[in-house]
Amino acid sequence: MKIYNSLTRQKEDLTPLESGHFKIYVCGPTVYDFFHIGNARPFIVYDTLRRYLLWLGNQVTYVQNFTDIDDKVIVRANKEGITSKELAETMIGEYFHDADALNILRASIHPRATESIDDIIRIVKILVDKGHAYVTDDGVYFSIDTFPSYGKLSGHNLDDLIAGASERVSDTESKRNPLDFAVWKFKKEGEPFWPSPWGDGRPGWHIECSAMSLANLGETIDIHAGGVDLTFPHHENEIAQSEAATGKPFVRYWMHNGFVNINYEKMSKSGGNFFTVRDLAQRYPYHILRFFILQAHYRMPINFSDELLDATVTSWKRITSSADHLAFVAKTAPDETTKSEEEQALQDALTTCRYNWKNAMDDDLNTADAIAALFELVRAANTAASSGDVSAPSLLEARDTLIELFGVLGLDPSDTQEEAVPSEIMALVEERTKAKEARDYQRADAIRDEVLAKGFKIEDTPQGVRVLPL
Ligand SMILES: [Zn+2]
Repeated sequence: MKIYNSLTRQKEDLTPLESGHFKIYVCGPTVYDFFHIGNARPFIVYDTLRRYLLWLGNQVTYVQNFTDIDDKVIVRANKEGITSKELAETMIGEYFHDADALNILRASIHPRATESIDDIIRIVKILVDKGHAYVTDDGVYFSIDTFPSYGKLSGHNLDDLIAGASERVSDTESKRNPLDFAVWKFKKEGEPFWPSPWGDGRPGWHIECSAMSLANLGETIDIHAGGVDLTFPHHENEIAQSEAATGKPFVRYWMHNGFVNINYEKMSKSGGNFFTVRDLAQRYPYHILRFFILQAHYRMPINFSDELLDATVTSWKRITSSADHLAFVAKTAPDETTKSEEEQALQDALTTCRYNWKNAMDDDLNTADAIAALFELVRAANTAASSGDVSAPSLLEARDTLIELFGVLGLDPSDTQEEAVPSEIMALVEERTKAKEARDYQRADAIRDEVLAKGFKIEDTPQGVRVLPL
């Protein structure tokens, strides 16, 4: 499999340091609110990467942290009159509610910053001892001038950044370089704090991820992933701190997913075009949100709109209806493999689908093309099913393939979530069948329209009558 490594800016063969075992760190949520659709994208994308690596037969140790101490957490908790710990606890519960519903596997380890304070202090101490960090009157800062390759991930021009930072920030007189960042912040009134060799305080955001990655996965890990907005300064700073502390490469492959826009505009809380996953789930089922996100290549920007989500509902329905229909037709299809042209066409479509699907997944996790390959199979399978000349084993193989390969994407086409057809509707359907037997087609059509008006569709198939909710 090849993936695009943001550090080298090219697609590379993805191989783990330890044969057959990938170590992955994904930046997790800051738990001060429900997570929004922009946060959901990395969770879903890298969960899919993990599922694919597992499907290929690898072991995966997957770490995703909770940032449970941060300015945002403190501000919100104070506003609500509760402790940061209480707020974080509630929001971690809400995270799991949404993440489970999105079928995001739980990480092997979900470390929390507040439970990693010892690991954080240990690294800050190494940085101070080695001269990479220094103490000021408001905290301990990392000195970027002591790390010559600072900027290698983002590719930013440091002089421009320094000039920008000097203009922007006013409270940095004590910093040696305007881009130096806090690894430990001394306590302020009304903030939670922990003791440290330099004074009571709390960790900076960047050092939290470095410490949780090093403590749980070791000095050099295979993949570190997150949204493209985290490239600078968050990931750049993580590299600087971690490599300055250990003297070893921190991460072998960096992966970054593209932005999420709403109605073709950048998502913004103040502009009102902002959706939490919980909000969206009121209108669209969770699996539709997951399917929607995976229909785009993860590095491309993605746009959310009701029209696009409605279209996603329709296309997902095509898949579940197909899986359902294949099982239905297989019930009465011959057991023996026939030698028909249609049978051969379906077998060819199965081979092609598997080949194209895997090629797409191997090419930088191209779930968009992988899904296109599955749609090709749906088309071929539907044609085969309606031909009436294909064996049950082939029809079921097509269905099982859809279930298996969509399953790797965390989606389940056999879960149609169809409500049972009410008995009132079934009585009408029966009446219609009798009307047809009596050749009263006018009556039969009238009943069909009546059923349609009540939200159900009647299909006459060679295998009998089917009733489907619209
Ligand atoms: Zn992080």
